[in-house]
Parts: sequence; C-alpha cells; structure tokens
Amino acid sequence: MLMSKITTLQIGGPAKDFQIVRSEQELLDLIKKNSDFLIIGGGGNLLVSDEGIDKLVIKNEITGISGDVSVKSGTLLQDLVNYSIEHGLAGLQKLTGIPGTVGGAVYGNAGAYGQTISDYITHAVILSKAKNLKTITKNSCLFSYRDSIFKKKKDIILEVTFQLENAEPAELKKEAEAVLAKRLIKYPLGIKCPGSFFKNIIAETLSKEILEKVSDKIIYGKLPAGTLLEEVGAKGASLDNIYIADYHANLFINKGGGTAKSFYNLAKKYALLVKEKFNITLEPEVQLINLPSL
Ligand SMILES: Cc1cc2nc3c(=O)[nH]c(=O)nc-3n(C[C@H](O)[C@H](O)[C@H](O)COP(=O)(O)OP(=O)(O)OC[C@H]3O[C@@H](n4cnc5c(N)ncnc54)[C@H](O)[C@@H]3O)c2cc1C
Repeated sequence: MLMSKITTLQIGGPAKDFQIVRSEQELLDLIKKNSDFLIIGGGGNLLVSDEGIDKLVIKNEITGISGDVSVKSGTLLQDLVNYSIEHGLAGLQKLTGIPGTVGGAVYGNAGAYGQTISDYITHAVILSKAKNLKTITKNSCLFSYRDSIFKKKKDIILEVTFQLENAEPAELKKEAEAVLAKRLIKYPLGIKCPGSFFKNIIAETLSKEILEKVSDKIIYGKLPAGTLLEEVGAKGASLDNIYIADYHANLFINKGGGTAKSFYNLAKKYALLVKEKFNITLEPEVQLINLPSL
C-alpha cells in the first residue's frame, strides 16, 4: 500500500505490509505475529518518506462511543465531537474540524482555539509494548503542548475516557460552527497538508528580548511558528510541488505530485533561517516517518 493513499498530505512511499483492524482482537492477533509495526489513525499528521515504511502499518479503525464519554481510539475525532455536542457535553467542541482519529489526537495532544483533547481526559486503556492491557490515569499520560507519554513509550492507545461538563447543545453547536467557519478559511476543503507543520513556541520559553518584540503576537500563551517563518520570507515560497500558503507561513501544502524530499527540504530551509535570525529551534508538530529529524 502506498502511504500517499492514506496520508492527508498525499505523500509517502509503500508500506512493507498494511492491515486495517476493526476490533481489539484483530489488533492483538496481528501484533502477536508482528513485533515491528507502526499504528496509525487517519494519517493526518504524518510526513512519510518517499522510500516508504519498512514495516507493517496498522490502520486503526476500532470505533465506538459510549456513556458520557468513553471512546475507542479508532473513532474519528469529529464523530466524538459531534456526539459530545448532541449530548450537551462541553470540552471538545472547539476540536471540530481536526481530521483523524481519537488515538492520533491523544498521541499528539491535538488542540485548537485554546482547547486540547487532554483537557477533560480522566484515563486511558492502553496496550503496552509487552502486550499487556493497562488502564492509566491522565497524570501518567504526561500531557503537555502537543506532547504525551505515547510519543516516548509507543504504547497503543485503545480507549479514552473523558469527564465532560454539562452544557446546552445549542450553545456548543454555535461555538463549533464559529470555529469551523474560521478553519475553512485556513484549511479549504481538499487541501493536501498535515495541518500546521511546526509547533508554536511556548511564550515562557522565549528570551526577554524576543518576547518584548513579539508580545502582541502571543496567542493562548504561544508565539505562532508562522510569525517567525513569515519574518524569514516563508509565505508563498515553494520547492517543486510543495508550497507554503501565502496567507499562513506554517502551512506547507502539496500541490499534487509533491515528494517528501521536497517537503522536508523546504521545511528545513525555513527552520534554519528562523534559527539564524532568532536563535529559536522550530520543532515539527508533524511526525516524520523514516526521515532524519529536522
Ligand atoms: C487540514 C488539517 C488540519 C489540522 N488541524 C489541526 C489542529 O487544528 N490541531 C491539531 O492539533 N492538529 C491538527 N491537524 C493534525 C492532525 O489532524 C492531528 O494531529 C490528528 O490528531 C492526527 O490524528 P490521526 O488519526 O490522523 O493520526 P495519524 O496521523 O495517523 O498518526 C499520528 C501519530 O499518532 C500515532 N497514533 C495514531 N493512533 C495511535 C494509537 N491508537 N495509539 C498510539 N499511537 C497512535 C501514530 O503512530 C503517529 O505517530 C490537522 C491536520 C490537517 C490535515
């Protein structure tokens, strides 16, 4: 299977083997036989090399939502958001429009407009590397900005439980619609991208000198990476079939037929320019698969 058929960026070479799982038993059976694998959700946050992935790729389609609220990790985040809105449960409505699965969102602690997936999580069921099922608390997930323990330990997230707050469905719907309207401007339908490429910078980590210059740009306690990228001329730049949006310097887009190599080189070029000008190291938010770190 070509990973370009799976990723939202539509880039990526072949996977050595590719399997979709729709039940926990299928997943267990598969990983009993294969110890080296990559589990993915919707492929919304991946930059896969043109050479592909020399292991089994498991696409998680184990879905289900119950109560208020436990959710299987292969459920689309949008389905969870819709469920929470319909049931008058607040805390996920601003995540509307983020592509991918709940598992992918928890892995990267996805968020938008001041809300993150981890805000109301209480615990998660995981499958550890030793293939043991475990329930772990939110504290053990070590969530921070676009980060979690899962980036280090590579356990599989199977199910997540939230404790959401009660609210009026109509109010939640209104909030979600307002977010969606903004998102559709930044991410028009059909856009081939992995979301924002670099992480924003936590304001507290900036030097006093830089903070003074950019204090009016801080949003939700972060300096957008796009602000720095714009300063070094990234807006509208391109390399082969990859271009950077002329309205958002942290949005790298595949025109069609683009390669991971061009994407990587373009991102690296502007990360280096930011480093030279501001002495800030930009970190990718997107997961680089079979590529050197930037
Ligand atoms: C148009 C667009 C807009 C976006 N906007 C946002 C945004 O506003 N905010 C934001 O945070 N992100 C955004 N993203 C990025 C992306 O949608 C999120 O990161 C999403 O949560 C990824 O989920 P996924 O299922 O697609 O994960 P994938 O891309 O399939 O995987 C991402 C990582 O998670 C790991 N993973 C996936 N499932 C599991 C599991 N069950 N257990 C353990 N590890 C797992 C994978 O191994 C991989 O390392 C956007 C992407 C696009 C294309």
